[in-house]
Amino acid sequence: MKTTIIGGGLIGLFSAYYLKKNGHDVVIIEQSSGEDGCSFGNAGMVVPSHFIPLAVPGMIEKGIRWMFDAESPFYVKPRLNLDLLSWGMKFYKAANKKQVEEAMPALRDISLLSKSLYQELSKMKDFDFSFEEKGLMMLCKTNHTLEEEAIVAEQANLLGIKAKVLSQSELHTLEPEVRPEVAGAVFYEGDAHLYPNQLLAKLKEYLVQNGVEFLYNTEVKTIHLENNRVKSLDVWQESRSEIISVENLIIATGSWSQLLAKQLGINLPMQAGKGYSITAEQKNGKKLNIPSILLEARVAITPMSENLIRFGGTMEIGGINNHINMNRVKGIIKSVPQYFPDYQLETPAKEKVWYGLRPCSPDGLPYIGRSSNLSNVIIASGHAMMGLSLAPGTGHLVQQLVDNIPTSLNLKLYNPERYA
Ligand SMILES: Cc1cc2nc3c(=O)[nH]c(=O)nc-3n(C[C@H](O)[C@H](O)[C@H](O)COP(=O)(O)OP(=O)(O)OC[C@H]3O[C@@H](n4cnc5c(N)ncnc54)[C@H](O)[C@@H]3O)c2cc1C
Repeated sequence: MKTTIIGGGLIGLFSAYYLKKNGHDVVIIEQSSGEDGCSFGNAGMVVPSHFIPLAVPGMIEKGIRWMFDAESPFYVKPRLNLDLLSWGMKFYKAANKKQVEEAMPALRDISLLSKSLYQELSKMKDFDFSFEEKGLMMLCKTNHTLEEEAIVAEQANLLGIKAKVLSQSELHTLEPEVRPEVAGAVFYEGDAHLYPNQLLAKLKEYLVQNGVEFLYNTEVKTIHLENNRVKSLDVWQESRSEIISVENLIIATGSWSQLLAKQLGINLPMQAGKGYSITAEQKNGKKLNIPSILLEARVAITPMSENLIRFGGTMEIGGINNHINMNRVKGIIKSVPQYFPDYQLETPAKEKVWYGLRPCSPDGLPYIGRSSNLSNVIIASGHAMMGLSLAPGTGHLVQQLVDNIPTSLNLKLYNPERYA
């Protein structure tokens, strides 16, 4: 049976990977040329440490304070938009202790599943994607942040995710380039990182060699239903319209998923969370070793692939558009020397700034599961800040759903129809 995947980002490609490995015919439909997008320029962190969803108590208040700072890491563009208002209400409702406590083990489990699949993949011959297991440091400039982060570290250890609070001197031994005044860090030794662009290239190479068909520059416009199934897709390819028939369908369209889900009668609340990244050469003699998150600034730094280093950050909930806000890019650039004095980055020209749209569900959990009404539809989307981390696990679960076999994890909390 042929499976059609809409979306050629990490979630689509990993779904294709596990389906192909299990003997399926697969076609991927992607509206862009497949050379850029959220899955490419991200920070490349594989993060079991991120077991707390974005919607937590206190986040709304923090977000409101940040809205008045042009360079802040989090921003919701105020606009009269029903989808945004409804998403905001759902975010608010999800940000409670009970829901967060339920979400944490679920996020841990899919993260650990994914990490083990990355470990497996990294051992494959000719499949190098610069996967390294060096851990992740949550750097805290102030004692106040360090105290807050130490509480998170305690929760992590209770969940079986190793976290160690590092004093200033321990931090210096691990990463000598850190500014001496930085108060300390929490070190998550089980985190890993990789070079996303290389991973995507390798995945695509594998898929092409193994007969997966790619339809690039092809946008799915309309989904046709018949007898509780998706029957066919209306696609636009180079301004020509075409009808493609469908046996199994996977919706892996990231931030755009709400639009297609609507055609299937599924309410899939989603907001695009724009983030920016800058990739530079590492400084000779001043190389950073371990990926870190500058906690006060919410900036991620990843030394990746030999001599490259990537700086990523901001979360702008502002709709699907390609507008670059240079103030926020400058916010990222300014924050780095506050932790690493020798990393004074040049501000890139606006047209050189990379941005990606993170697909954000209101409760911070992905949508992974079958449609209850349409027998041949699976949704895999809404991975927000963790799509790279969770992609192999998601792809593996999608394959199990397609094969109608028991899934490795309980998917109850990921139900794509939880807002039906
Ligand atoms: C600055 C930044 C840093 C990040 N760092 C990390 C990190 O360190 N670790 C981590 O785990 N995650 C990180 N992320 C998040 C991660 O990049 C995303 O969660 C992930 O890329 C989402 O993958 P996806 O496949 O769901 O979506 P996408 O990569 O957006 O892919 C969806 C694809 O669907 C296509 N599409 C949409 N509609 C249609 C249609 N109608 N027809 C055909 N094609 C369609 C789109 O063109 C797109 O290519 C970061 C994100 C940003 C912005």
